[in-house]
Amino acid sequence: MTEDPPPAPPLSSDPAPTRRRRSGLRRRPPFRIGDLEVRAGRRETGELPVPRLVTGTRISLPLRVVHGRHEGPTIWISSSIHGDEIGGVEIIRRVNEDLDPRSLAGTVIMVPIVNVHGFLVGDRYLPDRRDLNRSFPGSATGSLASRIAHVFMEEVVARSDVGIDLHTGSDHRTNLPQVRGDLDDPRTRDLAEAFGAPVMLHARVRDGSLRAAGTAAGKTVLLFEGGEALRFDPQAITAGVDGIHRVLARLDMDSGVEVAPPPVPVASRKSAWIRARRSGIVSLDVALGDRVAKGERVAVVHDSLGRRLSQARARFDGIIIGHTQHPLGHQGDALVHVARIADLDEHDGADGPPGVPPAPDRTTEPTSDPRTTDPDTTTDRTTTDRPEPDSP
Ligand SMILES: [Zn+2]
Repeated sequence: MTEDPPPAPPLSSDPAPTRRRRSGLRRRPPFRIGDLEVRAGRRETGELPVPRLVTGTRISLPLRVVHGRHEGPTIWISSSIHGDEIGGVEIIRRVNEDLDPRSLAGTVIMVPIVNVHGFLVGDRYLPDRRDLNRSFPGSATGSLASRIAHVFMEEVVARSDVGIDLHTGSDHRTNLPQVRGDLDDPRTRDLAEAFGAPVMLHARVRDGSLRAAGTAAGKTVLLFEGGEALRFDPQAITAGVDGIHRVLARLDMDSGVEVAPPPVPVASRKSAWIRARRSGIVSLDVALGDRVAKGERVAVVHDSLGRRLSQARARFDGIIIGHTQHPLGHQGDALVHVARIADLDEHDGADGPPGVPPAPDRTTEPTSDPRTTDPDTTTDRTTTDRPEPDSP
């Protein structure tokens, strides 16, 4: 369905010389995806069919394409690959509203709901209990999750140069707006810096994730985290919208929106959750974005009569990038997520932090640290090990 009026004919004194050079004399060819054919300078909506519901109802991934009048890269923006992480839907809605296909250089593919089955019922997973973001690149003959991943790879990733996958915290957890990516890859780091979220977190690719499959296919992929599941977090949504516009500007795509230069992002190569040592009522001492020193108390656990049971303390100097929103916690529950400040570097350009050795590949290594001697804290996981469900 066409949404935009036909592009106005250029004035005789227009377009500007740079535009003429960019678009050349010939009209840009149409962009084809699914059953859509989008002409240059137009915006269209469509859908990518995936396996039906058990009721027989047809189901598909909603799709919007803005095919700029001018030549440029193709970028995909996806959200809700975890069905309860809905914040990116609002980010995409606002970005789409801002985009003008008549000035855009390049093509933007927006897929606001990748896990439609989970989205319908507010569930992170698919009905087969699989995590869609562990099912990439998928296959045409695999599980339900695998087939949806395959459709996304074939239709969206294969046509793109760059991707931004939007996530939130989950399961009663909230995240400071942050970009996760392989900061050792200069192109990824460049776009992560351009995004301008408060924190950039180095995260090796994880098997089965969209980011891993997209990277393996030669694409530059950023993962954005911000806010919490099943909520619209204004700060995270604004950070996401502004960050996407800055990335489009960095790619010289001319999204038509001027966004203030990014705040100086801090980069970290390691993070860890601090867990509850006792079950009880949780009181947090910190908020998202707070800096904490090693040993500083970040939460207290009381019993229902107000008796203090345990305290949780930062294990290293860092910045608070996530925390639980649930006032009740069992022993072992993750309370506060700290990115290590010793590894922070203040936006020093395309190179990694000087003198910081590459982080070990934590993709397959759990990071429970039995050697810790601090009775109040436990290093449980980094941003890249399994099973904490906040992990993207
Ligand atoms: Zn997620």
